[in-house]
Amino acid sequence: MKASTQKKVNKDSKGKQASPQKKGWKSIPMGGLIERGGTAKEYKTGEWRTFIPVRDEAKCINCMICWVYCPDSSIKTQDGKMTGFDMDYCKGCGICASVCPVKCIKMEKEEK
Ligand code: SF4
Ligand code: SF4
Repeated sequence: MKASTQKKVNKDSKGKQASPQKKGWKSIPMGGLIERGGTAKEYKTGEWRTFIPVRDEAKCINCMICWVYCPDSSIKTQDGKMTGFDMDYCKGCGICASVCPVKCIKMEKEEK
């Protein structure tokens, strides 16, 4: 006997599909509030990290692609050159290593 793949659908007394009860926006519970800008600086997201980016400086061509893609603004620069990572905020996501055109960033397990 074949197993049924059909989903169970709630139906009203006339056999029509019943819609879930809709709530108005006033009945939605209050969520978190961000009362001012720039608060992300107060949260050192680097503590979440498992992997750490390690750059081979000799191979780096300073193209800044890692700077463009880093979601945490953790690529440090000076005078148009990449100088390292801001470990207070780098979450170790590995995007920089993935987008680097010369593959000079490796992700390594961080020893804490
Ligand atoms: S993407 Fe790679 S080559 Fe480009 S600046 Fe970053 S580390 Fe250097
Ligand atoms: S690992 Fe992720 S958060 Fe850290 S520098 Fe690279 S892109 Fe940014």
